[in-house]
Amino acid sequence: MKIENLCVKRLIGDVAGATTRGHKIAVRGGYIYQTFQGGYTLTPLGWRVVHKIENIIRDEMDAIDGQEILMPVVCSADLWRETGRYDAMGVLAKFKGASGADYVICPTHEEVVTDYARSVINSYRQLPFMLYQIQTKFRDELRVRAGLVRTREFIMKDGYSFHETQEDLEQYYKRCFDAYYRIFRRCGLKNFIDVMSSTGDMGGAVAHEFQLINEMGEDTLYICDCGFRANKELEDTESTLCPKCGKQMNKVRGIEIGNIFQLGKKYTDSMHMTYTAADGTEKTPIMGCYGIGVGRTMAAILEESADDNGPVWNMETAPFAVEVIGLVDKENKTLPMAEKIYNELKNRGIEVLLDNRDSRAGEKFADADLIAAPIRLIVSPKNIANNVIEVKYRVNDFDTSTLPNEYGVETCVDDTIKTIQTLLHK
Ligand SMILES: [Zn+2]
Repeated sequence: MKIENLCVKRLIGDVAGATTRGHKIAVRGGYIYQTFQGGYTLTPLGWRVVHKIENIIRDEMDAIDGQEILMPVVCSADLWRETGRYDAMGVLAKFKGASGADYVICPTHEEVVTDYARSVINSYRQLPFMLYQIQTKFRDELRVRAGLVRTREFIMKDGYSFHETQEDLEQYYKRCFDAYYRIFRRCGLKNFIDVMSSTGDMGGAVAHEFQLINEMGEDTLYICDCGFRANKELEDTESTLCPKCGKQMNKVRGIEIGNIFQLGKKYTDSMHMTYTAADGTEKTPIMGCYGIGVGRTMAAILEESADDNGPVWNMETAPFAVEVIGLVDKENKTLPMAEKIYNELKNRGIEVLLDNRDSRAGEKFADADLIAAPIRLIVSPKNIANNVIEVKYRVNDFDTSTLPNEYGVETCVDDTIKTIQTLLHK
């Protein structure tokens, strides 16, 4: 991709309406565009990042035997009436079709997935399994906040597991819990924790949230030195004493990036899903459910890692692995060299961006900070004279001080590909 063809508008200076660091950078860098209050278009740049996050999630969900599916965004109200949530859930967006039928825009899919699962499952031999999807959802929230941190329309990974016994659910819940740690670490998030949470609208008993500790978060978390952690919904907000050890707890702010629930039989019971157990009796499966806000994870990375110049992605989440920057010279040597390196990298399957515009070096570097490719190759007259290509790194959570700051002109493409591998397998 050549930078002039990238259909993204970058802004200079402050951004009106953006209050947090991450939101400002997301707008300045042209990652998101507000289409309506609480609904964003992910630009070619933002979509690349979100797609990378989705693939990390897919990878880890498949690794714990998840099966990816895709359910409809819009659903008949009848399924939601079966569980009683058609009337009970405040944020549910409802509308009437031309025929007069009642529809909902799904904010979560317990009803829809249980309807599918009951059409397939009849024997204990088919249990357990986990189905997940990555899909757009809608919650008719009264408030929206900080770009992708709280929106009305959003992309979510939602997973649902079905089990014979509580013990089996608990074992799977633990595997998913561990997978979430791997997912958020691979996304480059650092200061995140799990906390016990209330189960709210979801039903069931045991639940955990994954929270990025960050001052702009809208959740209040209580953390105790003894290891107890909870969000304020679960705790008596008057007391800041630990229910476990009685000591004073620390209060911090958090952005919720994921949640997992042991749902029990709330949905399978009300929707009459049964299977034949080994002893021949009819039984009801026990469910767990597992969510990750995908756009919100991108927002969380920006809130935690961005600085005044731009985002700091890692090699797994960056929109481009490499940016090649040609600095204009009078002899007209640099731009053809930059284009040659760019073409070779592209032919080798590398996600690479080329900046050969007829503009000042300062402007090119400022744009490069906003696009934030972890590896930047700078082709300047001085470097060519020395037969080298200058390299700059900007990588989340990786010490680049031992990496070379120049590659030979001849070995540049191979060296770049080697460095990408190093940054991927740290
Ligand atoms: Zn304690």
